[in-house]
Amino acid sequence: MSGCFRNICVIGGGPAGLAAAIALKKTGRKVTVFDCAAPPIDKACGEGLLPGSLESLRQLGIEIPADAGFPFGGIRLTDGCSSVASHFPGATGMGVRRTKLHGLMVEQATRAGVSFAWNSKHIEVAPGGVRVEGRLIEADLVIGADGQNSAIRRRSGLGAVTREIRRYGFRRHYRIAPWSPYVEIYWGRRAQAYVTPVAKDEVGVAVISGRSKRRVQETLADFPELDRRLRDAEPASAQMGALSVSRRLRSVYRENIVLIGDASGSVDAITGEGIGVSIRQAHALASAVERGDLLQYQREHRKIMRRPQAMALLLVAMQRSTHLQRRALAALAANPAIFRSLLEVHVGATGFDSLCSWRLLDFGWACLSA
Ligand SMILES: Cc1cc2nc3c(=O)[nH]c(=O)nc-3n(C[C@H](O)[C@H](O)[C@H](O)COP(=O)(O)OP(=O)(O)OC[C@H]3O[C@@H](n4cnc5c(N)ncnc54)[C@H](O)[C@@H]3O)c2cc1C
Repeated sequence: MSGCFRNICVIGGGPAGLAAAIALKKTGRKVTVFDCAAPPIDKACGEGLLPGSLESLRQLGIEIPADAGFPFGGIRLTDGCSSVASHFPGATGMGVRRTKLHGLMVEQATRAGVSFAWNSKHIEVAPGGVRVEGRLIEADLVIGADGQNSAIRRRSGLGAVTREIRRYGFRRHYRIAPWSPYVEIYWGRRAQAYVTPVAKDEVGVAVISGRSKRRVQETLADFPELDRRLRDAEPASAQMGALSVSRRLRSVYRENIVLIGDASGSVDAITGEGIGVSIRQAHALASAVERGDLLQYQREHRKIMRRPQAMALLLVAMQRSTHLQRRALAALAANPAIFRSLLEVHVGATGFDSLCSWRLLDFGWACLSA
């Protein structure tokens, strides 16, 4: 076995922690996952897996069975006046309930030989490993995968940020057949709502805004088209909330402690990228651990986050001005090829440089004349 980290503790068994555990186990390490909850673990999430996220899951050996979710072909964006839609280039995404995705990831981690300690409380990093409920568990690498409010990040001095924008997200499911082949994003003055199909008779609705009290029901009133669709649909889950944060950390590792997933910085939920980036980070971490070089992980982490962070900034900036938002959407509706190009960049099918300057000039002109 190459590298020096042989015995690894992962704190947090959400998508990021489980992906890291599976990827590291494949390199022959001893891996134990600790989580304060027990499977299947739920979380407020839009539950859309973009084509790239599905591919990263496949590389971990996880194929989502057709009956575990519902496919979607692209994205539709509307503000009630204008709308534009485009398919993903040559692939589909999938809506999957968090509890189902968690179950599938735990199954794969178990098959790979990962050990688990669910319902573990009072976990602390200690010299030589981690202390769980007062007992020392030896480890030569500790991975903090404990989500947005990471205690590992705070306590290990990795909390310094270069940028942070906080918003609030809520989700709820409704018993209704998906009516669109797309994930639909409803763009409003005060909030966005997006609808992801998760089963043949169920959709998930996630709302994101700058106010902690704007829940799904209040937000629906801003979107008459969506409100009409859901008026007679029975809620199929309790409402759940979570922070949606765009956060960039100065550093994602220190000595033998390394962060992954939302604990290591995140992109706004509207990008639909959180799970995908966590899994890409897991692959990068496994390869850096093999080389015994955590600096390599930090470099790869930056690369992985660059495109989603840029898209998140663009989308959150649009939220700041209703005027800009209306003009941008009208321009995209009039020039769907530009929207298609943006979506191709968003899913990583092409780079920013492919948004050639004439296309951006076209878009700028269309915004001015919309
Ligand atoms: C409203 C909303 C919508 C979103 N929509 C999408 C989407 O459509 N697609 C997408 O890809 N992403 C989406 N995201 C982002 C996505 O949910 C996260 O990026 C993803 O869950 C990150 O995974 P994680 O494992 O890092 O964190 P989490 O999923 O939060 O998992 C953290 C784990 O750590 C455990 N834990 C926490 N504290 C401790 C502790 N002290 N001790 C032990 N265990 C602990 C928790 O129990 C949990 O199991 C959305 C987010 C929000 C808020």
